[in-house]
Amino acid sequence: MRGAVRRISVSVAACVALVAAVAPVRAEDPARPAPRAQAPSGPCALAGPPDSGARYFEGVPTPGNFARSTGTVRAYTVFVDFPDAPATVTPRERYAEFFPAVSDYFARASYGRLDYRPMPRFSWIRMSKPLASYGIGRGVPFSPGYAALTAEVARAVRAEADPGAYDLLNVLVTPNAGPDALETVLSVTYSGGTFDFGRGAVPFAGSFVWSRQTGDSPWRVLAHENGHAFGLPDLYLDGGGGTTAGHWDLMDEDWGPANDLMAWHKWKLGWLGADQAVCADAPGTREFTLRPLSVPGGTKLVTVPLDGERALTLEARTKSALDAAVCRPGVLVAGVGTRVAAGEGPVRVRDATPGSAGCFRDPNVNAALSDAAYQPGQTFTDRAHGIAVQVLGVDAAGDYRVRVARGAQAVASLPPASEPLPSASVPTTPVPTTPVPSLAAPSERLPQQAAAGDGFREALERLRQAVCAQWWAARLPGCGR
Ligand SMILES: [Zn+2]
Repeated sequence: MRGAVRRISVSVAACVALVAAVAPVRAEDPARPAPRAQAPSGPCALAGPPDSGARYFEGVPTPGNFARSTGTVRAYTVFVDFPDAPATVTPRERYAEFFPAVSDYFARASYGRLDYRPMPRFSWIRMSKPLASYGIGRGVPFSPGYAALTAEVARAVRAEADPGAYDLLNVLVTPNAGPDALETVLSVTYSGGTFDFGRGAVPFAGSFVWSRQTGDSPWRVLAHENGHAFGLPDLYLDGGGGTTAGHWDLMDEDWGPANDLMAWHKWKLGWLGADQAVCADAPGTREFTLRPLSVPGGTKLVTVPLDGERALTLEARTKSALDAAVCRPGVLVAGVGTRVAAGEGPVRVRDATPGSAGCFRDPNVNAALSDAAYQPGQTFTDRAHGIAVQVLGVDAAGDYRVRVARGAQAVASLPPASEPLPSASVPTTPVPTTPVPSLAAPSERLPQQAAAGDGFREALERLRQAVCAQWWAARLPGCGR
């Protein structure tokens, strides 16, 4: 399937031994105070399932036993190799694959509310046994393999590190250990429990990164894994089922061009101020101004709750350094289910152009959803819940004006939305030409199309997507969305 179908997620991530996690006292560094974090609250703060403590859900606020995602966060970063796979690069070279990019990403995406410090330990920790003896594989539980590996890390650093002083652990494995990312991706995060590093159990959030990704920004696999450490779920569908959020969020597609996190995730992570997340829970008609996520300040999120566990979210997305694949800027409408498990589509983008081939071509981008945003003059309607969202226009500052109607009466009495923008004024990204793969040879492994795949089935699905992305393929069987 598309690039991101390879994270080992929920079930695995919850497998760390769960023993009364107690928040540790962490040293603060007063030198660089981040802007004040805002925990989500109010009628739109829809909770996850009652027993979701150690699992990944979209509910807000995030349960307290994940790594915190605001203020100064210390990520103890260690390097691991194996007797049968000794490192072929230096720790600093491996480190440079991810930093400072990951820290910069979090600083920008959080609007300065997450001061992420990688805290590297620049030497390889040689595991005692060959890689195969740890039983590392896709979907394996933390114990025994990862537990044994982590215990060896703990022994190696015991004399020099206080695990209670760190918020999360990054284990960067030598890239020559295990299968290449073109074959399968082993990178995984375990969090939500505790681990005894030798001085008593401390809350544990550990991201293990194997191999190397392809694409424009391979460091993003670590940002994605750390997203789990902060409590975010995977958005792509388990079992190669595809994508429901496309390239609009790092927790769906973390290969290829840079992408931001959706506004709901920023709210969940505490990266929005109190006045930046608005709740549209009252009946009637209201208008809002949304500032694009790429521009600091302003309202970033309008949440339209549908019931106690489902909501529609509105946010403005434009092309930017963090959103390199935005080819049709506008207002993104998505459905969020706070009790839908990770891997089962907890966030589903509502496509403003269903059936279109999209406007961005990259092997790691779901093209069909790349033009999902609503533009001025367009209206999203959810008749089942009596909701309508009109995109009224863009003001001189680049902010989007939207009108939200709740209730059948309000929806029925809506005036027409603003005049659509002339097409010439809608910025678009030129679509690079992609060679059309031959349908006659679906088993051929295409270096680009299968880059992030996980074997034949995913290669086949990538081939299907590549073909369906062509303008002439919209009506072919199997190409509808
Ligand atoms: Zn993941």
